[in-house]
Amino acid sequence: MSSRVLLLDIEGTVCPIAFVKEVLFPFFSGKVPSLVSSGEPAVEELLTQFPQDKQQCLQEYILELVDRDIKDPVLKQLQGHVWAQGYEQGEIKAPVYRDAIELIRRGGEVYIYSSGSVKAQKLLFGHVADPDSDRRLDLQPFIRGYFDINTSGKKTEAESYRRILKDMGREARDVLFISDNELELDAASEAGLNTLLAVRPGNAPISSNKGYEIVKDYSAL
Ligand SMILES: [Mg+2]
Repeated sequence: MSSRVLLLDIEGTVCPIAFVKEVLFPFFSGKVPSLVSSGEPAVEELLTQFPQDKQQCLQEYILELVDRDIKDPVLKQLQGHVWAQGYEQGEIKAPVYRDAIELIRRGGEVYIYSSGSVKAQKLLFGHVADPDSDRRLDLQPFIRGYFDINTSGKKTEAESYRRILKDMGREARDVLFISDNELELDAASEAGLNTLLAVRPGNAPISSNKGYEIVKDYSAL
């Protein structure tokens, strides 16, 4: 591989898109009833930040926010709290692809760039399902750094990738960005990075063929 540094997207690239929609979101929704009656101080403090007129029907209100995919900052914090507990108690493990685990462990310089928060990214890579056992793997020691929308900006803007290069202290030509999203690859290549389009099971068909080189298996990298 000519690029010394890897910058990896998460959903649709190192783990199935379905993990978020079919595992993380239902896990949170299932915990909402016990959450609103938990009496846990950290949770109580968050709940009081929801609008005053919703305090009588918090459970319904929270589930409605989830259903409508509303980007509510309090909801995000609550979800982060619930998922952290789920990961720590072994109820959730991240289904990172076997060849992605191997790629990350191979010892190159690996960075992550995802729209999920850095905190959520660290939880995910700290609690990966071992494909060969029911144990969990901690991939965090193999990851040099994490970037999200707050640290670096939108994934579809070239400026975000320039910011990331600056933070890495790297030249664009040394970095390979892998993502399943062509708009993200457009932005990364505008910033001069090398790119590969991830085509993995469960991904939506590629919308347009912009000629990006495709990768289906990371063991060849
Ligand atoms: Mg993706």
